[in-house]
Amino acid sequence: MPLVSMNHFLPRAKQEGFAVGQFNVNNLEYFQAIIEAAKEERSPLIFGASEGAIRYIGLNNVVALAKVAADESGLPVALHLDHGSSFDVVMKCIRAGFSSVMFDGSHYSFEENIRLTKKVVEAAHAVGVSVEGELGTIGGVEDDLDVAEEDATLANPEEAIRFWEETRVDAVAIAVGTAHGMYKGEPKIRYDIIEKVASKIEAPIVLHGGSGVPDESIKKAISYGVGKINVNTENQVAQVQVIRELLDKNPDMIDPRKYLGPSREAIKEVVKGKMRLFGSSGKA
Ligand SMILES: [Zn+2]
Repeated sequence: MPLVSMNHFLPRAKQEGFAVGQFNVNNLEYFQAIIEAAKEERSPLIFGASEGAIRYIGLNNVVALAKVAADESGLPVALHLDHGSSFDVVMKCIRAGFSSVMFDGSHYSFEENIRLTKKVVEAAHAVGVSVEGELGTIGGVEDDLDVAEEDATLANPEEAIRFWEETRVDAVAIAVGTAHGMYKGEPKIRYDIIEKVASKIEAPIVLHGGSGVPDESIKKAISYGVGKINVNTENQVAQVQVIRELLDKNPDMIDPRKYLGPSREAIKEVVKGKMRLFGSSGKA
């Protein structure tokens, strides 16, 4: 199956009350671990690639790896640009073969965010590519993004509704209290904001910074209208733990397959657990 846009499964996810995971890729092993998990779970899937990951892996490599995974699995797989910072970056990714993009205009003024996001939606929808927009500022650190806690601002529900009405994005990331990276304490998710916005717009809400959020909170957020959840940090933590232990125990180990292989299994297990938690298992 070729790569599909998120509209292949997100409308159904919102209707039926489940969420599809966006699993970010950092190297080859992520593609392998994530697609194997999706195959075993029969789950739709979103590969997330940040601008940093694209620089690291290479734009054409990212697209090729995602295409092979989609082809061989027969599953509905979207390749999604995570936090695209400009119209140019978005267009580059679409031209290279991405089936979905996020345009993050959250650091612009509200009106400017709408204007720029609209421009992206027009161009992307013309070629069947889905778009995620962002409102409010999600705190924490992820790749090129670094938002201090005091600069993180929650989304205003009225603005979020207007943002969707004017841009018609296919998914809306709104800042509701989660943060990128791993939590130290327990995040206070503003379910009331999710509910208010989700009940007024067709598109599902996207939860960024889902790592470290308790399972019950995730389920609750999905029940209020979250239809897409981004996961990256937890996979990285699982991966590095395995590698660290193996190299500590075996200082002579030099074959990367000996430590990357087992760490790939660890990523796969995390992804499978998320697919079950999000309710996307069996929905492919
Ligand atoms: Zn994010």
